[in-house]
Amino acid sequence: MADLRLIKGDITKFKGDAIVNAANTGLVGGGGVDGAIHRAAGPKLDAACRKLHGCPTGEAKVTPGFNLPVRIVIHTPGPIWRDGSFEEPKLLRNCYENSLKRAVENHCQSVAFPSISTGIYGYPLEPACKIAVKAIREFDAPLHVTLVAFDQATYDAFEKVMTKTA
Ligand code: ADP
Repeated sequence: MADLRLIKGDITKFKGDAIVNAANTGLVGGGGVDGAIHRAAGPKLDAACRKLHGCPTGEAKVTPGFNLPVRIVIHTPGPIWRDGSFEEPKLLRNCYENSLKRAVENHCQSVAFPSISTGIYGYPLEPACKIAVKAIREFDAPLHVTLVAFDQATYDAFEKVMTKTA
């Protein structure tokens, strides 16, 4: 089982093997955490992403970390929230599972996630946190996983789910 911890902060500062980027399907740098990761990694990240020719929602693709203090970045486009009836929960779970698979394939011991889809993509925070925590806890691999909450509301939502279901 993957072990899980929660911190508040900026994922671009995470020191470990990998960080996950809440990307878009074009893998072209956007706003939010995606923009922060691209700024911190430098322009080579954008060039590497373009060579991947996009990524479907819920899937995950890997680039080097370039100027980031991690070896690799795992890019996963989360679902855009509509009303919950467009497979959003399943797609969000896929993001976590497929990112963890890429981490294992790339011999990672530590990986950090932002809260996928709960920013610009509008996924309601509490259900998204539940899906994230469940998907990570159920993933069967010896990985150290860190959830990085950028704001207090996200931190509180993750903490509530983690203590309730510990
Ligand atoms: P999405 O498009 O998947 O919703 P966003 O980047 O808009 O992605 O938001 C996802 C989460 O990432 C939000 O909780 C947002 O506050 C958070 N976030 C933004 N910048 C950072 C950062 N530097 N480190 C960690 N999380 C961040």
